[in-house]
Amino acid sequence: MDLIDIFLHDTTWGLVVEIIIRCCVMFLLILIFLKLSGKRGIRQLSIFEIAIILSLGSAAGDPMFIDDAPIAQAFVVMCTIIILYRLVTWAMMKSKKIEIFLEGKPLCIVENGLMVTQDMRKEKYSHDEFFAEMRQQSVEHLGQIKVALLETDGCLSILFYGKDETKWGLPIFPNHYKKSKNLDSDVFYSCMYCGMTQRLIHLDHECPRCKGKDWAESLNTAHIN
Ligand SMILES: [Zn+2]
Repeated sequence: MDLIDIFLHDTTWGLVVEIIIRCCVMFLLILIFLKLSGKRGIRQLSIFEIAIILSLGSAAGDPMFIDDAPIAQAFVVMCTIIILYRLVTWAMMKSKKIEIFLEGKPLCIVENGLMVTQDMRKEKYSHDEFFAEMRQQSVEHLGQIKVALLETDGCLSILFYGKDETKWGLPIFPNHYKKSKNLDSDVFYSCMYCGMTQRLIHLDHECPRCKGKDWAESLNTAHIN
């Protein structure tokens, strides 16, 4: 394959002008169609919304530069997608089952200072991703959290314990999220996998919740926002 061919192929100045016009028209069409979808700007998208954006994107993309892809055909594709979107949105409003199937439902990740591990496994996320998200919301340890929900748009909603209700819990910042090497019978330890917190007699004790054997020293500082 010739390098010049990859970059230029049969590009002429006439084609460049045509591409510019096509891009302007398709860009306007995308804007109009996104407006027609009835959506406002959104921080994160659900799977269903991503499917719509991708479909609109590929329908709009081809006529921008492929010279035998007429804009009229892309227009029909985009109309179809928007009608589908409106239909499915309507179906989701009418039926809770369809909504849960397409958008999913919020999942409980932390409850009473402990990771809810069965829900977490369902969601193919790793601990690290949850911990990172919680750190960004200034969670220092799991004992600060009453409930944490993974919303359908991928955001984590966190309900904190008040200052006096804060429990001992698993630290999630790296300076404290470390496997303990010395046992102190006066100290609380937290399972590094599920957050189970208790005193220990020996450090290779098996976690009663998840059978993990890694323990970190717990914290009980109150959440500050
Ligand atoms: Zn555990």
